[in-house]
Amino acid sequence: VKPLRKGRPLFDRLALIGIGLIGSSIARAVKAKGLARTVVCTSRSRTTRERVRALRLVDAVAPTPAKAVERADLVIVCVPLGAYGDIARAIAGKLKRGAILSDVGSCKQSVLRDLKPAARPGVHFIPAHPVAGTEHSGPDAGFAELFEGRWCILTPPKGTDRRAVNKLKAFWRALGGHVEVMDARHHDLVLAITSHVPHLIAYNIVGTADELRAVTKSEVVKYAAGGFRDFTRIAASDPVMWRDIFLNNRDAVLEMLGRFVEDLTAVQRAIRWRDGPMLFDLFTRTRAIRRAVIAAGQADNPPPATKARTAKSRTGQDKAARLAR
Ligand code: NAP
Repeated sequence: VKPLRKGRPLFDRLALIGIGLIGSSIARAVKAKGLARTVVCTSRSRTTRERVRALRLVDAVAPTPAKAVERADLVIVCVPLGAYGDIARAIAGKLKRGAILSDVGSCKQSVLRDLKPAARPGVHFIPAHPVAGTEHSGPDAGFAELFEGRWCILTPPKGTDRRAVNKLKAFWRALGGHVEVMDARHHDLVLAITSHVPHLIAYNIVGTADELRAVTKSEVVKYAAGGFRDFTRIAASDPVMWRDIFLNNRDAVLEMLGRFVEDLTAVQRAIRWRDGPMLFDLFTRTRAIRRAVIAAGQADNPPPATKARTAKSRTGQDKAARLAR
């Protein structure tokens, strides 16, 4: 793949199926960088389709997935994992020869199962997962810099055309990301421990606090700065998206959760037996991991280098919508 010159599109026609936080961030970045001559999208609801038109995020809004993928040379599915089967049925046989069919879903083995049937011979099927996001949803929540400095993991099935993989790599790099190629099963294990189990812990601890009787809800909110507030941000993530992640990455999450519960029991024991050295050793090890995350530039959301630009690039309309949420 030749290095990208600004203003030279990598793709002729990009179709986005679903245009919430992730789809609209892709649309904004592609438009800002001129990575596709035409960007088309579709969304399930008329409300979102109209909102996208009002925000002028894309060149055309199609009424259905089948219409959106017509003549597209890159199709990216950006809907919750539970909707992939319906989308696959809607676009099966409609993609043009030589097109790349990709997605942004948070786990990858289920995507191989659910979306692959839509890729007839001659279509390059390359699942992808940008490891970037926020707790917000919908087309108003997206921003062009979301992927800058973040990793995008591609999980092409064995035998996928190398040129097509390289082209998709170039696309994600042009969006500002780093790219890694991985086996889908390994992806799901890695993400289970780095993303899915942490979200489950946040949902669970906020749920536990909600059900307490001895501590009132107003006290939980009032004293949130003691640590609870960081969990509430994660636990505010989209319920549909996260329900679908746990239903579709079941095995990897259960495997990692099993280990987590064992380790939690060990900590519980250490507290019961006043084992200070065990607690101190654990907290020292974990502190080193936080430092490694900071050193890798993955601690802020969005990364510090993009924060200022993100603030500047948001339109007045975006800001108004954000304030209204
Ligand atoms: P989002 O903001 O909630 O947007 C979801 C989009 O999918 C909207 O266009 C919505 O359409 C459409 N949609 C929802 N349910 C649907 C259904 N049953 N059938 C057809 N279309 C449906 O979601 P998002 O955060 O962009 O997430 C999209 C994908 O990205 C998910 O697979 C998620 O796993 C992955 N992902 C998310 C993050 C993150 O942090 N959010 C990070 C990485 C990857 P309407 O608005 O018209 O209903």
